Amino acid sequence: MSFCGKLKTELCNLKTPECCRIAECYGIMLFGRFFSSDKIGIQTENEAVAQNFCYLLRKCFGIYETPVSSNGKRPVHKVYVNNSDDRKKILENLGNEDILYTDILSKECCRASFIRGVFLSCGQCNEPEKNPRIDLIIKNEALVPTVIGLLNDAEIEPNMTVRSGKNVIYLKKSETVEDFITIMGAGNITLELMDLKIIKEVRNNINRRNNAEEANTAKMIEASIKQRNAISYLIKKEKFDILPEELQEVALLRMANKEATLSELCKLSSFPLTRSGLNHRLKRILEVAEKYGFKGEIK
Ligand SMILES: [Zn+2]
Repeated sequence: MSFCGKLKTELCNLKTPECCRIAECYGIMLFGRFFSSDKIGIQTENEAVAQNFCYLLRKCFGIYETPVSSNGKRPVHKVYVNNSDDRKKILENLGNEDILYTDILSKECCRASFIRGVFLSCGQCNEPEKNPRIDLIIKNEALVPTVIGLLNDAEIEPNMTVRSGKNVIYLKKSETVEDFITIMGAGNITLELMDLKIIKEVRNNINRRNNAEEANTAKMIEASIKQRNAISYLIKKEKFDILPEELQEVALLRMANKEATLSELCKLSSFPLTRSGLNHRLKRILEVAEKYGFKGEIK
């Protein structure tokens, strides 16, 4: 099961306190497929969401419905309130689809349950290991400010975009995604997310370190090739002998130890030599070679 599927299933398995049930049910319906006197219903890929909605309809309104499922490549589970009297009963309690009925959202626990319902109905999330992200795809534009307001109340700052003509409220910072999941009540998943984040950070650090090491090695090899080319050039142009003795010594040391780092060369030297001293001498050799026409490569 995808992370999103797992998260939704876990949310459905929570024991919703009695006072919160109607708020959760309302969140599911209002952001579901239909919420009007003609049709009330949801359509979901997640069976737990469909079952949970049926449970809430029963507990809150005494309405008995069962999911209608088709199990193709992408399973679809539909739950519709089929009886018009039942729909009337719901709307009498909760008002119409454009205005949020706030009476049932006065308590913090109920607001959190409402948000959970919204997510169950119209929410999507990415695999957190790749890029944590929560999307709430909202068909009814009139409800966008309401959702943003509720999230702001919970100290979550969402972003907003329009994708394929639909309003999408999204969260993409991993801390914000974690906060959102925690508010909805899936603490276990948040812990899992944090573990994943730590693993990801460690992995990134290792990559960064490896890259830095590789870059250093590459730089070192490049420098060694250039130094050796300069020395070969001087020999070819019969200018090696004009180098002062201390430079000749260093040149021979470099030629004899192609892959040695500066520190290794210092250790190999038969005379006392510091890294910066060695570096300075190698630079001087390069300058002499360039004075005689060396351009970095041997022609
Ligand atoms: Zn409550």
